[in-house]
Amino acid sequence: MEGVIVPKHALIAHKLTRLRDKETSSVLFRNLAREITQILMVEATSDLSTISDERETPLCPFTGATLEQRIGIVPILRAGLGMSDVAHEMLPMARVLHVGLFRDEETLEPVYYYDKLPTPPNIDLAIVVDPMLATGGSAIAAISRLKETGIEEIRFIGIIAAPEGVASMRAAHPDVKIWLASIDDRLNEVGYIIPGLGDAGDRIMDT
Ligand code: URA
Repeated sequence: MEGVIVPKHALIAHKLTRLRDKETSSVLFRNLAREITQILMVEATSDLSTISDERETPLCPFTGATLEQRIGIVPILRAGLGMSDVAHEMLPMARVLHVGLFRDEETLEPVYYYDKLPTPPNIDLAIVVDPMLATGGSAIAAISRLKETGIEEIRFIGIIAAPEGVASMRAAHPDVKIWLASIDDRLNEVGYIIPGLGDAGDRIMDT
């Protein structure tokens, strides 16, 4: 599907298998989520724009490259926190902006509880991270809110998505490219991704 990238990568397949496994401990789950995020981050940042940067090695001048955009990492709380630290380690110059949303278990609608986004924005590119793109409700709402502040470009990195969530995101925000480790089969009647991995927030936070 246009705008949706699911890298075919043996390490992702191996790590995702262990991430899904119900016997995987919370400690291992966090590590696997970080490692998968790292691989997806490499993919999702491969075409970022750079400007030339004149510097000198100990031997001679050279023309290097520096990332052009001011980048922000935006974890959707709380499960997105399992991805944002490693994304920040990979982009240490990035800002981290928080968007607090949870899903109402009955309506499956996002409930918004935290918002400290600067307006006008102090970033050009927001990389939104949330491990599960289920109905897409939270991600769509968070991205709409980021757009309201005037951020120029937004990318989304998730680990597992339901086809329904991908379709809703593409319809709501066709300009937002999506990187995922897997698009699973479907959503069940209570909004969990099948086969999925259960509740990502609970598994990351051990709650
Ligand atoms: N959120 C999760 O943590 N898991 C799902 O399967 C769907 C939404």
